[in-house]
Amino acid sequence: MSLRIGLVGLGAIARAQHLPAIAATDGLRLSAIASRNTSLEGVANYRDVAQMLGDVDAVSLCTPPQGRFDQAMAVLRAGRHLMLEKPPGATLSEMALLQAEAARQGVTLYATWHSREAAAVEVARDWLSRRSLRATRIDWCEDVRKWHPGQDWIWQPGGLGVFDPGINALSILTTLIPGVRLVGADLHIPANRQTPIAADLVLDAGHPVTAHFDWRATGDETWQIAFDTDAGAAVLSEGGARFTAPDLETAGENREYARLYARFRDLVATGQSDCDLAPLRLVADAFLTGRRHAAPAFED
Ligand code: NAP
Repeated sequence: MSLRIGLVGLGAIARAQHLPAIAATDGLRLSAIASRNTSLEGVANYRDVAQMLGDVDAVSLCTPPQGRFDQAMAVLRAGRHLMLEKPPGATLSEMALLQAEAARQGVTLYATWHSREAAAVEVARDWLSRRSLRATRIDWCEDVRKWHPGQDWIWQPGGLGVFDPGINALSILTTLIPGVRLVGADLHIPANRQTPIAADLVLDAGHPVTAHFDWRATGDETWQIAFDTDAGAAVLSEGGARFTAPDLETAGENREYARLYARFRDLVATGQSDCDLAPLRLVADAFLTGRRHAAPAFED
């Protein structure tokens, strides 16, 4: 019997990725949505998550991180499995409470990191595991007007600003290289906004790691991690879809969300949870310790 999924928040990512991925995954079916503003044919439609819990076995939350805690807790307390878009929550303390509740209820909690599922990440992990790293450099730069038009929540406290894409790079970094620690951060915050438009991080992973996140880029985006190793230079680029090393080049099609939903199905089937908070911890540390710099006001 297929797992009945309820989707909450029918915004950009739900439409572009979640709906097609659910439809393409064996053993799952979309049975309901909860949306404040829209409806979908062929499934039960509700205004909020609490109303739809009777119709579903599991819930996928695609709402912004602020305000997700109450939704997530309602799902877990009802004994339903829960899948969270990245970032999994607005705070680390709320994530600890959700983990405890999922364990108490004996249900699956899955904090997804879609960039970890990019086509070349596993190949990069394998190649890097056999090399000695000297330095790692992350550049994650895109045009906020192109990728987040009109998304007010992203500029509000808890919305992460440029760390909303930047956390994708950190999710790849922390799956490739364990034991990463934030050393320092510079956050550039527009005068009329609450979250950074750009950030520079210094990290330590047993070798130096630097990261530059920037939303002021125009033209093509740069989503890449460059590695200086004892076997030469290697680059994981295109958000993790392509890996180039002196002796190897690989690139594949984007199946990130199909892989996330297959894993969610399998976690539920085997009674497991997966809630790695390492990327969110690094972002929290940057907000805790980072130096603030005033940047010019930003208008959409
Ligand atoms: P979005 O386009 O703004 O959609 C979010 C949806 O959540 C809204 O359409 C709305 O759906 C619902 N919502 C509930 N409370 C809200 C509130 N207070 N403010 C705004 N919307 C609210 O955002 P998104 O880009 O889909 O991002 C959602 C999550 O997915 C974020 O955590 C983001 O980091 C992550 N994500 C986004 C992308 C991307 O490229 N866009 C990629 C990967 C992950 P209803 O009208 O149906 O209630």
